[in-house]
Amino acid sequence: TSGPIETDAIVIGAGPCGLFAVFELGLLDIKAHVIDILDRPGGQCAELYPEKPIYDVPALPVVTGQELTDRLMEQIKPFGPQFHFNERIDGLVREADGRFRLTTDAGTEFLAKVVVVAAGGGSFTPKRPPLNGIEEYEGKSVFYSVRKIETMRGHDIVIVGGGDSALDWTLNLAPVAKSLTLIHRRDEFRAAPHSVEKMRKLVEEATVRLMIGQVTALEGANGHLTAVDVKTASGTERIACSAMLPFFGLTMKLGPVANWGLNLHENLISVDTERFETSEHGIFAIGDINTYPGKLKLILSGFHEGALMAQAAHKIVYPDKKLLFQYTTSSSSLQKKLGVK
Ligand code: FAD
Repeated sequence: TSGPIETDAIVIGAGPCGLFAVFELGLLDIKAHVIDILDRPGGQCAELYPEKPIYDVPALPVVTGQELTDRLMEQIKPFGPQFHFNERIDGLVREADGRFRLTTDAGTEFLAKVVVVAAGGGSFTPKRPPLNGIEEYEGKSVFYSVRKIETMRGHDIVIVGGGDSALDWTLNLAPVAKSLTLIHRRDEFRAAPHSVEKMRKLVEEATVRLMIGQVTALEGANGHLTAVDVKTASGTERIACSAMLPFFGLTMKLGPVANWGLNLHENLISVDTERFETSEHGIFAIGDINTYPGKLKLILSGFHEGALMAQAAHKIVYPDKKLLFQYTTSSSSLQKKLGVK
């Protein structure tokens, strides 16, 4: 196996504040890798309210959660951040050389000079369907996310849910599955209309089977699923399957952040308001996860925090370089980094 990924900065969380942090770090030549448990950027904006309008982002009179995310992604593109989705940072320890070693639940390791915790309300955690004995199957034949599509090849897959995740995975896995059944309790879907349309087409072509009903029981042994019972309007039907993907939404829990030895105050990370540094030198916290006197959990606060954090991070990443204050409007060196000059 290859060794840890070495980088200047690790940003934990790809919510709006984590994304903008990449920009502020990038202007100061600090390269970042961004890790998020979710399968896409945007944090709460993308996961909880992609279509709701936000009215208090400066200079954008109205912008939806998804649009804001898309624009941030465009803005940070010049800095080429590397994203690691579907991974949760679990371990964070300091090495003898002063750098930080971070590990994810997928086994990826990083060595970084600074860490930016932009973990928002904490880890998004999938809601577990109320099915007897489901724990025994989790990670073996019941999955709440898919890291590699290939691992699903040749399986008889059951997907449960009616939101974007359920529909996206139905569309993505249909080409590799031996069979795919989508189960939802009503024939109405919260997912994006174009995904629903595509799904209906696959159902028409008999590539996907759509069942309106509720999974009531799991069948199998030693973690290996063989069938699920589905209660429909016309009775209970048993569907043979080797993998089930339930998408019942997500809740936010503090998660591993609590285990990193940082000073917490009511489950938030205490920081100063000059550098937004935690009790551990070199570990910063910005956005909804931090707390200080007067803190407002607003996107615009997190943007400001990212700018000041980057100044402090620069002192650690480039201890011998003096930092000059520069405007993006007039600095040709900043414009070069942004690729506009
Ligand atoms: P988040 O958006 O919470 O993102 C944090 C990310 O970190 C998540 O994706 C999470 O999965 C990830 N993460 C956490 N722990 C780990 C880990 N250990 N490893 C890997 N990844 C991890 N704000 C406004 O300013 N204006 C508004 O109008 C507004 N409206 C809102 C409406 C609703 C319905 C909600 C729910 C919020 C609203 N907010 C609004 C608040 C705003 O969404 C938050 O302030 C903002 O999302 C915080 O951004 P963040 O980057 O700090 O965290």
